[in-house]
Amino acid sequence: MNEHRLRQEMVRFAHLLYERRLLVAMDGNLSALLPSGDVLCTRAGCHKGLLTDDDLLVVDRSGRVLRGSGRPTSELQMHLACYEARPDVRAVIHAHPPVSVAFTLANVSMARCVLPEVVLTLGTVPTAPYATTGSADLADRVREAIRAHDAVLLDRHGAVTVGPDLLTAFCNLETVEHTATITKAARDLGGARELPAEEAVRLRAMGLKRYGGPPEAVARADDPGADLPEACLACSGCASRDPGGIGPRLDLKMARVTERPIPTLGEALAAAPERRSLEDAVVAAVLESLGGG
Ligand SMILES: [Zn+2]
Repeated sequence: MNEHRLRQEMVRFAHLLYERRLLVAMDGNLSALLPSGDVLCTRAGCHKGLLTDDDLLVVDRSGRVLRGSGRPTSELQMHLACYEARPDVRAVIHAHPPVSVAFTLANVSMARCVLPEVVLTLGTVPTAPYATTGSADLADRVREAIRAHDAVLLDRHGAVTVGPDLLTAFCNLETVEHTATITKAARDLGGARELPAEEAVRLRAMGLKRYGGPPEAVARADDPGADLPEACLACSGCASRDPGGIGPRLDLKMARVTERPIPTLGEALAAAPERRSLEDAVVAAVLESLGGG
């Protein structure tokens, strides 16, 4: 795609990010590779809902400004790391999708197989450990995670999605936030059931062959599970007492993933017969489940 059309597309997708509430104020940044191999990116401190062509810069692969005014986005290193790690990637979008970010704050993983069409097209979404925004550390964590995934959540911060073009990177971001929204609604209703492991494995292998994905994962498409995390393959759905599971036990309405499952009242009392009051036993059992006991 020539530079003129790519610039038009970038402005359009920036507006869509704001309209779809995937970011606010000066949040987020977009980039895409030009035919020359240089990078078209948004400048630092611009509102994506009001973005114009003047807010775009061309930088080389080391981040040096070649054309345009202002400084490039402070998170440029993260974008450059994606192009470095994945020769198939030609567009990168970073935004702060609210429900997905809330999942990272609540320590609930999105590296789970819940919706079939998402497993088919996107696989699972890992969360990169926290690092300061704009730091080389953050770029390193994204570089690592993006090798085997097209979408990555950044702990307490946002999401990074990639694709062969801006449309695909944008669709991946929308899919992440939509999945988070549906999963949250299910959790609010009592729990999100995961796909059976065999079905998740089948869907992912189909998806990698049909829609492609990270080259590392596509090369392993015949392996059972390919790029699905171990946790998914061993998961027995929402009935699982695995504390890393996606939802609370169905009999618990509390949307909090505890370190260990909260015992029943009988279990709590049996575990602490020496405690005098019922209240003491329950408090001790809950604290222990939260990892503070
Ligand atoms: Zn950010």
